[in-house]
Amino acid sequence: MKSIQIAIDGPSGAGKSTMAKLVSQKLGIMYLDTGAMYRALALKAIRQNIDTNDSEKVSELLSDFNISIKYENGSQKVILNGEDVSDKIRTDEVSMGASNVSAIPAVRKRLVELQQKMASNTSVVMDGRDIGTHVLPKADVKIFLTASVAQRALRRYNEQKDKGILKKSLEEIEKEIEIRDYNDSHRAASPLKQADDAVLLDTSNYTIEESVEKILEIIRSKGLPNAL
Ligand code: C5P
Repeated sequence: MKSIQIAIDGPSGAGKSTMAKLVSQKLGIMYLDTGAMYRALALKAIRQNIDTNDSEKVSELLSDFNISIKYENGSQKVILNGEDVSDKIRTDEVSMGASNVSAIPAVRKRLVELQQKMASNTSVVMDGRDIGTHVLPKADVKIFLTASVAQRALRRYNEQKDKGILKKSLEEIEKEIEIRDYNDSHRAASPLKQADDAVLLDTSNYTIEESVEKILEIIRSKGLPNAL
């Protein structure tokens, strides 16, 4: 059967990874979280006290950057040079660092090549910022997932509260989301932008289940063979 490629892009905190993971499970195909790759590189820079905006120094890190993403019992493991960094890449410091390193052209070039290689000849749901526009321009389905800044901040706030790692006010989280949105959509290299042929899905007023169902409806509407 022909492999199918599903690209899900959108701003930070729109729920892309949650939805992409659930959709991939429903369809029984691979899920690739491209943000985790930028996060791992940011972590590597931060650990070496390298400014994540320093394009020269960050680019040098690429010569010793081995990243793999595995699944164990349904949960994603991000392995950086042999070390499991799955939890360590989820801090606010790494989020901001990832946004910085992702603006460096040499970084994007390398990571996009890796992502394209990982997706070749296999069915995949991939989420990120530039999947429909650059990584998989011929994807069978492209979805641009968004939600209001207030909703995205509230989701992040509740998520951190539930995990017992809440250190900021809702207003501070909202401000950080605004900064990342601005950085991601104003950088010169592959800014966040809805692909012309992507379907826009605003999840502000949907639950996770409703959003997943909407995505599956979009996939079914394309008449793809295994999207039943
Ligand atoms: O999706 P996530 O929040 O984990 O991504 C972290 C950062 O990596 C984003 O803020 C964005 O700047 C960058 N990113 C990107 N291109 C992708 C995925 C993530 O530039 N395909």
